[in-house]
Amino acid sequence: MTGIGLTRAWTVNMRAVRLTAWGREPTLAEVERPVPREAEVLVRVEAAGLCHSDVHVVDGAAGALPYRPPFTLGHEVAGHIAALGPDTDGPVIGDRVVVYGPWGCGACARCAAGLENYCDRRSDLGWHGVGLGRDGGMAEYLLVPSAHHLVPIGDLPADQAAPLSDAGLTSFHAIAGLRHALGEGTTAAVIGVGGLGHLAIQILRATTPSHVLAVDIREEALALAEWSGAQFGTLMKPDTARVLRTRTGGVGVDAVLDFAGTTATLELAAEVLRPGGELAVVGSGGGRLVVRKPGALPPGLRLALPFWGTIPELTEVISLARSGALQVETEHFPLSAAPEAFGRLRQGRVRGRAVLGPG
Ligand code: NAD
Ligand code: ZN
Ligand code: ZN
Repeated sequence: MTGIGLTRAWTVNMRAVRLTAWGREPTLAEVERPVPREAEVLVRVEAAGLCHSDVHVVDGAAGALPYRPPFTLGHEVAGHIAALGPDTDGPVIGDRVVVYGPWGCGACARCAAGLENYCDRRSDLGWHGVGLGRDGGMAEYLLVPSAHHLVPIGDLPADQAAPLSDAGLTSFHAIAGLRHALGEGTTAAVIGVGGLGHLAIQILRATTPSHVLAVDIREEALALAEWSGAQFGTLMKPDTARVLRTRTGGVGVDAVLDFAGTTATLELAAEVLRPGGELAVVGSGGGRLVVRKPGALPPGLRLALPFWGTIPELTEVISLARSGALQVETEHFPLSAAPEAFGRLRQGRVRGRAVLGPG
């Protein structure tokens, strides 16, 4: 295989949405278009999803994250292969792909098993993944370290595929960890019905028999929950725990997926879970829950802090979407409107996922 596709690429520039300093709004800048070396793959970006984690990252205080600006944002990326490094084997220029984002060290046992999200060297890497300390996909092109970080998408539209690589994958992975508790006659509560939450509801409905309850602070999010298949939705209010508990006939819910992660939502989860219940905290809202024995938490409660997902799970998510079981609700913005998209996400005005595309 030869390093083909782009001649004299080092002289070519491209547009990219760059974070240049913590707390500073990202800006569209001209940067050098990368050239793939060794086993690297250059992807022509067709779509890049905007995640609430991007907002957390932009707002990050210096030293809060194990990496530093400047870098290009964008960790949900779909596109097609534009050029290949000389040592790649397998992919073909033009193949349409989604990018597996939580890049690990590539050498540990976890990475070898495709579980790069739980890379044994994660705390020493200096990045959390693509667009999170490493240049990401809110750009015209993205350099991917290796073809094994790519999952084929066939003819899935790019705006659908991109959010599946985090909003879809993270939800799928969180649910996979709770699946044993979500059999016939069970109830699951989804708190926070945005980019991740609306896909979590669809994944719960498509892959478990569980009855799905949704909670949000916005009426529009509850409408999205219903559209996504939730059997019940309610606004976050002082009596929400009682309302949810009533829906379970008084016993409490079997599993809570918290996509907000605030103290209020963690406390709600602790109040509504039945004994032996499962709590997956996905949202990075910075909330606290006190673990104490004896204490107020339900006996037998099991806590999970899932991070992103695995490569085999991403393949499953793409299959699920290609079968028609997942439908990402998207709002499309051209790359040049990235600041507007960030602004709308901050104001809670995005329905589903904002996706940036070339243009
Ligand atoms: P989003 O903005 O699209 O959706 C968040 C939803 O939560 C919104 O509908 C909002 O109205 C709702 N919400 C906010 N505060 C609430 C509260 N107190 N009670 C109930 N609902 C509330 O965000 P997203 O992109 O879906 O991300 C959700 C969270 O998950 C973020 O904190 C993000 O950083 C985190 N995240 C974690 C992982 C991981 O691997 N663990 C991966 C991706 C995103
Ligand atoms: Zn994300
Ligand atoms: Zn590793």
